[in-house]
Amino acid sequence: MRAKLVAGNWKMYGSLAANLTLLTRVKEAAATFRCASVVFVPFPYLAQARAALSGSALAWGAQNVSEHGQGAYTGEVSAAMLMEFGCRYVLVGHSERRALYGEDDATVAAKFAQAQRAGLIPILCVGETLAEREGGVTAAVVTRQLDAVINGSGVAALSRAVLAYEPVWAIGTGKTASPQQAQEVHALIRARVAQSAAAVAEELQILYGGSVKPGNAKELFTMPDIDGGLIGGASLVAEDFVAICAAA
Ligand code: PEP
Repeated sequence: MRAKLVAGNWKMYGSLAANLTLLTRVKEAAATFRCASVVFVPFPYLAQARAALSGSALAWGAQNVSEHGQGAYTGEVSAAMLMEFGCRYVLVGHSERRALYGEDDATVAAKFAQAQRAGLIPILCVGETLAEREGGVTAAVVTRQLDAVINGSGVAALSRAVLAYEPVWAIGTGKTASPQQAQEVHALIRARVAQSAAAVAEELQILYGGSVKPGNAKELFTMPDIDGGLIGGASLVAEDFVAICAAA
């Protein structure tokens, strides 16, 4: 059976003082979690996360990584730098990066490869917009986003990665995909991977993200192909994030 993972994406929120309270509360609770857990903090707070969480059950990671190894890329942060700050995971292909910063499938695939090369576990985010869902191309979009990474890194690379299905229309909107809608896409992703590597597909953790809250987490997490969640807004409220981890 696949273990569950719950990941919190803080986005561009936080302050040293607020983070300390949040990290302390979640870290204390994490000792009792029966799932793995990770928080994705903004870059400047990685040192704070490392100091607060070292030796605890709560892992930390970054929300973005450069597609380059090193060089004259002003403002970018490399995978090797994230490793130096103790990150275990990194998000790649979040829909906000794709939509707001023009990250296309090729860039996401390059970031995925850089992350793995440095020893990070990428959480690859895929998902369709509302127009794409209404246009009946959800499967095509998600498969295209996944195939870009499989073509770049090989299907075996997914054994050192996590997938996150995040319908764009559900992120930060309060509109959650129904457990059945989410399960359908998760099963599709697993089947696509199984076409090339059945054993990799069986072990692949596929998280659901999009307005997961304490009130809907359990129903989502009981679906057979949903292996946990990627949590945005609710990860900023300690008791909500802890309740979601407890549901997992
Ligand atoms: C996200 O940022 O990945 C996300 C799922 O956000 P929210 O939970 O707020 O919808």
